[in-house]
Amino acid sequence: MKIYISADMEGISGVAANMQLKKESEYQRFRRLMTADVNAAIKGAFAGGATEVVVCDGHGNMSNILIEELDPRAQLISGNNRVMCQMEGIDDSFAGVFFVGYHGREGGSERGVINHTLSGQCCRDSHQWAACR
Ligand SMILES: [Zn+2]
Repeated sequence: MKIYISADMEGISGVAANMQLKKESEYQRFRRLMTADVNAAIKGAFAGGATEVVVCDGHGNMSNILIEELDPRAQLISGNNRVMCQMEGIDDSFAGVFFVGYHGREGGSERGVINHTLSGQCCRDSHQWAACR
């Protein structure tokens, strides 16, 4: 059973503000926490019967997960030269998808952390919304 894990960063354990994810701030700390959250999902997937796990790093430059700390049983898709963005490599061979570290949609959940939809820069203004779909 193949499991696909798409990981974002805004919903990772401990993230409470966008400034924490800026390179000059606590970014390195949250890379480590992101990798730990993804490792927990990988562990759960294998405990639940997965035979193969593919992880897609889906935040910012899409090179956040620390490969040297990633569970070696998983394959990692890293880097931003992609066609399918946060779902690069997905196909019908996967039995399920986990979303780790995701955030609420723009204008959606009032209890969400760093709510936005895809590129917040693109979707924040409603007049640009049509360009994001
Ligand atoms: Zn993100």
